[in-house]
Amino acid sequence: MSAEAGAHVLILGGTTEARGLAEALAAPGTAVRVTSSLAGRVANPVLPPGETRVGGFGGPEGLAAWISGHGVTHLVDATHPFADRMSFHAAAAAAATGVPLLALRRPAWIPVPGDDWHRVPSLADAARVLPGLGRRAFLTTGRMGLSAFAHLDSVWFLVRSVDPPAGQVPARLEVLLDRGPFALDGERELLRRHRVDVLVTKDSGGSATAPKLAAAREAGIPVLVVDRPPVPPGVPVAESVAQALAHLRP
Ligand code: NAP
Repeated sequence: MSAEAGAHVLILGGTTEARGLAEALAAPGTAVRVTSSLAGRVANPVLPPGETRVGGFGGPEGLAAWISGHGVTHLVDATHPFADRMSFHAAAAAAATGVPLLALRRPAWIPVPGDDWHRVPSLADAARVLPGLGRRAFLTTGRMGLSAFAHLDSVWFLVRSVDPPAGQVPARLEVLLDRGPFALDGERELLRRHRVDVLVTKDSGGSATAPKLAAAREAGIPVLVVDRPPVPPGVPVAESVAQALAHLRP
C-alpha cells in the first residue's frame, strides 16, 4: 500500500488519530495529496492540514464515486471505533474501486486491578443493566445515543458532549458541554461534585478520555463499558499513526 509522490490519500476522519495522520502526511516536503473527510456532526471542528471536505458521501456508492472522481489512490478509515456504518461503507467502496483500504483504530481499553467493569454489547443493553448499578450516572457515550436511555426515569444523568444533545433525552438530565482531552483531577472532581455512582462509556480507547476510568476506579464506582463493533473482515488495522505511516510508506 505504498503512498508515494502523486498519491492521493483520503482519510475518513473525526478522530485525533485521523488528524495526526493528516498532519504527518501533509507535512512540508511530502508530495502526497491528503484529503480529510468529516461527517459534519460537530459545529466547529478542529480542521486538519491538507484538503478537507465535510458531509456524507451518500452511501457506499457515493463514496466509491468520490474515490474514482478525485483520483484517490489510498483510503484510510480513521473514523471513531463506533462509527461502524462508515467503516462498512469504506470496505464496500474499497472493494468496488480496487483502492487499498487501511483501518486506523486506537487500541481498546483494558481493565486494571481495582476496576469494576460491566461489559455490554450495545447502548440498549447498557440501558437495561444501568438501573441495577446506580442512580446517578455519568453518561459519556455521546449525544447521538441518548434516546437509548430516554425511558429511564429512575436514573439521573450527567451527559458530557461537544455539542448540545438533540432528539429524545432522559427526563432527569444535566448537560455539560466540553471537548476532551480531560485530566484526572477534573474527572475526580466531576464525579464528586455530582455524586456520580456509575459511569457509562463506550470502549473508545485512547488517552484523551481515559482519566474518567481512573477516577471511577479511585472512587470505587462501577463502569458500564459498551464493547466495540468489529472492523469489517479482511481490512488491515493500524493501531497508531506511526503504524499507519509504516503501512502507507513501507
Ligand atoms: P456512522 O454511523 O458510522 O456513519 C453515519 C453516516 O455518516 C455515514 O453513513 C456517512 O454518510 C456519514 N459519515 C460518517 N463518517 C464520515 C466521515 N468521516 N466523512 C463523511 N461522512 C461520514 O458514524 P457516526 O457514529 O455517526 O460518526 C460520525 C462521525 O463522528 C465519524 O466521522 C466519527 O469518526 C465521528 N465520531 C463518532 C463517534 C461515535 O461514538 N460514533 C465518536 C467521536 C467521533 P454517507 O452514508 O452519506 O456517506
